[in-house]
Amino acid sequence: MKMSKLFVETLRDFPSDAEVVSHKMLVRAGFIRKLTNGVYTYLPLMWRVLKKVEKIIREEMDASGAQELLMPIIQPEELWKESGRWDVYGKELMRFKDRHDRMLALGPTHEEVITWVAREGIRSYRQLPVNLYQIQNKYRDEIRPRFGLLRGREFIMKDAYSFDASQEGLEKSYEIMAQTYTRIFKRCGLETRMVRSDSGAIGGSLSHEFMVLVETDSGENDVLYCENCDYASNTNHAKTEMLPAVTNGGYTKFELVSTPNIKTIEQLSEFLKIEPSVICKSIVYIVDENPVLIMIRGDQNLEETKLKNVLRANELRIASALEIKEYLGVEAGFVGLKHVKCKVIADYSVKDLKNFVIGANKADVHYIGANWGIDFDLPELFDVRLSQKGEACPICGKPLKITQGIEVGNIFQLGTKYSEKMNAKFSDVDGVEKPFIMGCYGIGVSRTAAAAVEKFHDEFGIKWPKQIAPYEIIIIPVNVLDELQMKVANELYEKFQNAGIEVLLDDRDERAGVKFKDADLIGIPVRITIGKTIKEGLVEFKLRMSGNMEKVEPEKAYKLTLDYLNSDSV
Ligand code: ATP
Ligand code: MG
Repeated sequence: MKMSKLFVETLRDFPSDAEVVSHKMLVRAGFIRKLTNGVYTYLPLMWRVLKKVEKIIREEMDASGAQELLMPIIQPEELWKESGRWDVYGKELMRFKDRHDRMLALGPTHEEVITWVAREGIRSYRQLPVNLYQIQNKYRDEIRPRFGLLRGREFIMKDAYSFDASQEGLEKSYEIMAQTYTRIFKRCGLETRMVRSDSGAIGGSLSHEFMVLVETDSGENDVLYCENCDYASNTNHAKTEMLPAVTNGGYTKFELVSTPNIKTIEQLSEFLKIEPSVICKSIVYIVDENPVLIMIRGDQNLEETKLKNVLRANELRIASALEIKEYLGVEAGFVGLKHVKCKVIADYSVKDLKNFVIGANKADVHYIGANWGIDFDLPELFDVRLSQKGEACPICGKPLKITQGIEVGNIFQLGTKYSEKMNAKFSDVDGVEKPFIMGCYGIGVSRTAAAAVEKFHDEFGIKWPKQIAPYEIIIIPVNVLDELQMKVANELYEKFQNAGIEVLLDDRDERAGVKFKDADLIGIPVRITIGKTIKEGLVEFKLRMSGNMEKVEPEKAYKLTLDYLNSDSV
């Protein structure tokens, strides 16, 4: 493709409404254009990238034995009523009415439709196991669709669903998908960590997320990971041991002390000259409209997803000062366990506290020297603590690091959650009708491409992994009016084309600086520049990812390019 013909317009600046790196880069480099919030046009360069990601996914899914189909985007309300999700899926589900006043939805995911497909098409255990997948647009009215392709309202997903006759069968299908996923992302140039997760809205039992660890602030998940071994966990379900800390306040008497206007743990520890870790901290939440008091050690923080799971809550939020006053009759900052009337739970971190400090449910005072079993009953204990960096890896004991992670895929063991509700059954070896044992497996196709940009870029633009780059190489003649430069450029261009390599020729009559800038911004993996040194028979060969550069003969540049494209590196 010649640059003069390529449908692309790069921008001089990053768009002002973009917050994350991938969004900024993809808009500025002319890959995507926003039509409305969370809805993008994939311009030709982007579409090439997405088709490559899709091709890798198709090849690996097919090799795993899965079969591709294509289900409708439009889904009738009835199916969602059968599964029970019509009423619980909430505002993310985009619903509309047809001319006959029937309710329909744009598919955010396809468990209902695929269960219907299996119910209609699978009768016997002999037809099992089977894994069906599709690659298609999905629709979700996300609450904050402001991260470009990372979180769109219309996005491309690969979704697969397995049907087995037994739990062991499901586990096998699940394992095959886990391996397939690792290979898919690797082939996209992305290293992923497989982390255990809770099942969120889809439900079921075991599930894992595939995370790309990034250094950018992508607004996605915090991930604790170990550099020494494979361990990684989303912070909202990590289980680690706390670092050692002082847990005995050293007081010899249980008594009230004056703490005028002291409202935070920091102020309290400074005022009393004690470590925050000898304070029993009180936090009030409104959980499905009722107040709940949570006790946690003063140096620790609460993890809301854990709290939500422990309390089996639909919705929770931290109580306002006004609500604390209303429900507990005390100023925020002085809440404790004395005469509390609401539900109370505690995090394991408070268990070993001795002679500790705690609020007294009275303004401007605190208790010091408190002990469990003597002054207060120990509330029921749960793990609702946020694990922190530096804590030991549960597998190898090395200190954990924290970083951001982008979930590019996930796998779930659904079991019979959908098949039972939707009466999707097969007849087993023993002749008994049984519900299918299901699994579901998603990959965010457009999110994977965006994750690659989050992972690989510099201040000048994108550094596409060569496996998913829109073009593999760009040839830049510095001066298109120079005959020799153009001759060598055209020869190389043809040679690459004949070898089946995706090559761009920047034949525009532009300043060299402009061409270099665009090549860097667009992120083409290999650049061959033909400038003045061609008189000595030399061109410049440069890799975008590493920045490595060499002056070589055109023939050598050709060979180096092939070697690089065939190598395993990104
Ligand atoms: P998240 O927790 O990020 O919202 P999810 O749990 O809702 O993801 P699934 O419903 O399992 O995700 O979807 C499968 C995959 O689709 C995800 O792993 C992710 O890669 C991708 N995905 C989900 N929501 C979006 C979105 N709004 N935009 C782009 N990709 C998405
Ligand atoms: Mg979601």
